[in-house]
Amino acid sequence: MSIIAEKTTQVVSEINQACLATGRHPSEVALLAVSKTRSANEVREAYQQGLTRFGENYLQEALDKIQELDDLPLEWHFIGPVQSNKTRQIAEAFDWVHSVDRLKIARRLSEQRPTDLPDLNVCLQVNIDDESSKSGCSPDEALELARAIAALPHICLRGLMAIPAASDDETVQRLAFAKVRELAERIRANGLAMDTLSMGMSGDLAAAIAEGSTLVRIGTALFGPRAAKG
Ligand SMILES: *Cc1c(COP(=O)(O)O)cnc(C)c1O
Repeated sequence: MSIIAEKTTQVVSEINQACLATGRHPSEVALLAVSKTRSANEVREAYQQGLTRFGENYLQEALDKIQELDDLPLEWHFIGPVQSNKTRQIAEAFDWVHSVDRLKIARRLSEQRPTDLPDLNVCLQVNIDDESSKSGCSPDEALELARAIAALPHICLRGLMAIPAASDDETVQRLAFAKVRELAERIRANGLAMDTLSMGMSGDLAAAIAEGSTLVRIGTALFGPRAAKG
């Protein structure tokens, strides 16, 4: 059995266990394979293990892979910081963008989404720990931003995305994810339909699932450690 096959089995079983532990059904949690820095062949191997959703951070690398793999029925998610001069290529090539954190970016994606494609799925990225160095809107602006994004044509606001500060302590992890869940509940209570909580990575997926994640973004646990990117 290949390494990716083994690791995929492990991650799927970790997700299933986390669901079982909190009374959720595994079908409620999608697995996004984060394939940044991985070759097209590694993605192909992961696809052979049943994975169909792939997440990328670096646009040019992603576009090359998407082209090389266009014989496969894959769903591509952009999860890295979005520069405004890159929105057209993102709107043309991706199915989802998880990292929208300002209205200007959402407007450009909306205007530039080709009308012959389905609406682009977007998540609003929230800086839940208020670390000034990270991307994401502040929790205080999330409701107004979500309202404005939901009103735009050609894109569909699906939910919130967050990357909390790394911690080995599951209690700390859960507190941060609970804040994201509560924020999403507040936004929904204001009449906005959202079905996605994009949260949880290799080191904190169980905590994220316990707090309602509907999509975990997993790189290292599927593909092994990444080489440092300069
Ligand atoms: C790299 C990355 C991941 C995957 O992280 P791992 O710890 O390797 O699972 C998830 N989300 C985002 C936004 C990333 O940039």
